[in-house]
Amino acid sequence: MGKKDRRTPHLAFVTLRDMPGTRVMFWMVEACPYCGERHLHPAGNLRTADPGDTLGEVPAPCDPARPYVLTLPPKPRRKGGKDARRRARRAGKTEWDSDEG
Ligand SMILES: [Zn+2]
Repeated sequence: MGKKDRRTPHLAFVTLRDMPGTRVMFWMVEACPYCGERHLHPAGNLRTADPGDTLGEVPAPCDPARPYVLTLPPKPRRKGGKDARRRARRAGKTEWDSDEG
């Protein structure tokens, strides 16, 4: 007898942006699943916050009644296997979602 009225929030893929000259970061939704526009969400301060903490379900700015889930876009997979991976590592692409601290 449970309510099955839960609407599953849509996913909104985000990219991390920072404001030049500041340590403030934003998640930028490139295309809102509801209105197709861009939306910005504060992701915290570069020094004090882990932007990953602010991912998740948030109300859509264009329609607060419909939340969406801030999500990192899936990483593109390259063919080529280990070599390509190793090369990517060498390039020094580190991400904050790896173990830190
Ligand atoms: Zn929207």
